[in-house]
This record gives sequence, C-alpha cells and structure tokens, in this order.
Amino acid sequence: MGAADLDVLSGQMPELFQPRELSPEWNDGLIIVPIRDPEWRGEHEWRAPLDCSVSEDEHVDIEYAGIELIEPGAGPPNMSPVIIEALGGTYGGAPIPYVGGPAMPPPDCLAFYLPFHYYHPTWWGVYLLFEGVLWLASEIIRRSNGAVGKLRAMQAARLFLYHHEAFHHKTECFATRMELTHRRPLFKTGFERFYQQTIGTPGCLEEGLANASALNDANKKLRDAVVDRALVGYVQASPPGYNRGDQIRGVFQEKRCEFAEANQRICLPHLPPKRSDVWRTTAHMFNGIANIKSRVNYVIPRNSPLSLRLPFRPLPSPSQLAKKLGALAGVQFVRHCGNRDIYQTPTGKKIPMPQHPRDIGRGLLRKILSEAGVDMGIEEFLRH
Ligand SMILES: [Zn+2]
Repeated sequence: MGAADLDVLSGQMPELFQPRELSPEWNDGLIIVPIRDPEWRGEHEWRAPLDCSVSEDEHVDIEYAGIELIEPGAGPPNMSPVIIEALGGTYGGAPIPYVGGPAMPPPDCLAFYLPFHYYHPTWWGVYLLFEGVLWLASEIIRRSNGAVGKLRAMQAARLFLYHHEAFHHKTECFATRMELTHRRPLFKTGFERFYQQTIGTPGCLEEGLANASALNDANKKLRDAVVDRALVGYVQASPPGYNRGDQIRGVFQEKRCEFAEANQRICLPHLPPKRSDVWRTTAHMFNGIANIKSRVNYVIPRNSPLSLRLPFRPLPSPSQLAKKLGALAGVQFVRHCGNRDIYQTPTGKKIPMPQHPRDIGRGLLRKILSEAGVDMGIEEFLRH
C-alpha cells in the first residue's frame, strides 16, 4: 500500500475514515519543518530531497542548530496546549501532556502520530517536537555520563522517537489490512478500545512494542552500545507499559503476535480464537506504508524562546500567507480544489496555494508573491 492508494481506499471505503476538521489557522502558532530523512546520520549520507517543493535546507540547518541548543539538565518540554486541543485523541500515538511525577515523559509527550483514518489526506504522519528531541538527547548524554557526544545524542533521540511513532503507524496499517477483508471499521473501534483498556497499565502492549521497536531500530542504525544503554535506562524509567520496551525487544515477534490476536478478539469476537503464534505467518501485515518516512516533521511553537534561535527565519503557514496577501494585494479565497486552495487576485488571476503540514517553501513563496503582483523580496515581505 502506498500513500496514493489511500485515496483509493478512502474513495471505496469511506466508512473507515473519520476526517477531522481542523480550522485553517490551527497551526499558525507552530513552525512545522519537514524532516527529509528521519534516519539521516550526517552530511555524508545526505540523499536528494524526496520532495523538491520543500524549502531549501531547513532540515539540515535545524539538525546542526540542534546540536548547539541541547541544554544539559533542562527539564522536559510541555506539549503545546494548541496541539493537545486540536489533535488530542484516544488512539495510540496521540499527543499527551507530561504531568510530571517520578516516571519519565514517555515518547508520546515528545512526539506524536496522526493516523490517516482521521487525518487523510493532509495531516497524517509523524511529528517530533523539536524540543522533545533536544530533551531526549540531553537525557541520553546525562545517562551516559557525558560519554555520548551531542551530534550522536541528537541522532539517537530523533531515531528513537521516529521509530516509536512509526510503530503506531504500523499498527494502523495492520488494522487497515483487517478492515479490507472484513469490510468494516476496526481501527477506530476495536483497536482504540483495546488501547484505551490497557494504556497506563503493564498490559499496554502497543506502547511496549513501540518502545521495543524504537530501541531495536535505533540500535540497528547506530550500533552504539553506550547510546543503547542510555535509551534502555530512559525506557525502564518510563510509565507502565512503555517501560517494558527493553524486556519485549528480545521476544518482539512473539509479543507482536499476542498483540495481533488480542486486537482480533476485541474487534471480531464472534470468530473463533486461535493461539497467538498463528500470526507468525503474516508478519508483513504490520508493514508500514512505504513513504511514512516522507511524512515526518519537526514542530516548534512560534512563541517558544527556541524559535528565536533557529538558523533560519520561519516562513508563514499557508493561512498566514493568505491573510497577508489579502491585506497587501486584495487576494481573495475562491474555493478548495483537492489539496489546494484557489485564491484570486483583483484582476482575476487564479493562485493555487498548497494545503500541507508545513510552512510555505521559499521557492513557492517567491512564485506566489510574483503571481499576486507583490513586488517584494522574501525578507521584505516577512518584515512587512
Ligand atoms: Zn506511543
């Protein structure tokens, strides 16, 4: 299944989807920077951008800036109330606030996943709080008594959080394959019910598996025993369920089979139960959609002190751009068209504006300014 196939799925089985309406301004207070490759390890492994409309080099800039911004001993960040209010949910991977206490903030306080069942076509994907990655990096350094350098710690934190949230995506893909054969919604019913019954308890297999998968995948990429020990320490100090990640990683397949059978029983209780190892034959049901890697973003609140220390000037979100163009050039909204909004200048010229979970790219911004007849460079426009 590829991302474009989701259009086919939503066309044929709309009952599976429950699109959440987000106001066009909901993300105006957030800077959203696409991560071109969440497994990126440095300049030498740099690959061509997956999407050329993405603004120049912000991902690379932000990675290197992050190294300077890690603060040893800093407390965990707060998930922005804007995020919780707009995107809070009852599925695995939904953003949750950190309430303090003896346990560490689990990954879903530092990152989150928006499922396509609710956020197709625009917003679904993985989001990492930039401050969450920085905090986890400082935690890795602290737990290794300074043996892990900042660059490595930053990579490890990003890899760990990305793979944790990617497991929630894999769970959604597993649910979708069951939905296809049973022709009815199971993700937003049975899967969520099972998650809600177990979250906060040692029986929360989804979070234990997500942490096990994050430990294994980060380790596969970095092959660094000191980093691995630090991450294991963090996992073990996390809330119940999450804290079983290290224990589960050695029996990952077995536990994932248990998880599959438990979901099957809650989703389709009229079917005969089987021993969970029957699922060993169909591990591919958990495969993610091929390009989840291209739907990973950093999130930074525009009002956070960190935003002033970024190595680039944040660009406007599509809704902020539209507002500014309205005031400057009389550009008006006309209609929605697929994943674009169509605007019009006073002379009748149509301007398509993308709807996507990131700020407008520089190249596109230049093009839109010229189409709207705004005779300004980007810097001048941003200051205006
Ligand atoms: Zn999680």
